Amino acid sequence: MNPDNGKITIDAEGCKGCGLCVEACKPGLLSLSGRLNHNGYRVAEYAGQGCNGCGLCFYVCPEPGVLTVYKLVAEGAFA
Ligand code: SF4
Ligand code: SF4
Repeated sequence: MNPDNGKITIDAEGCKGCGLCVEACKPGLLSLSGRLNHNGYRVAEYAGQGCNGCGLCFYVCPEPGVLTVYKLVAEGAFA
């Protein structure tokens, strides 16, 4: 199986639950979970695999620093 070309992390406490990243992710890897953060927002959740590193979720997120995208630059290395 080929490795994913990317991966992401989401700062759950900074997420505002707007859902823009969910709409932006073409492979449908993001969703709003049932979990609420300390501000009472449903937080975005990554399915855990399948990310291609396109960065669209990062560009649409209005909250600076909440979404981080890592793109595979060489087998086994993320940058
Ligand atoms: S980087 Fe692209 S494929 Fe990966 S989670 Fe974000 S929108 Fe989806
Ligand atoms: S776009 Fe950002 S603030 Fe909105 S749901 Fe996604 S991670 Fe949360």
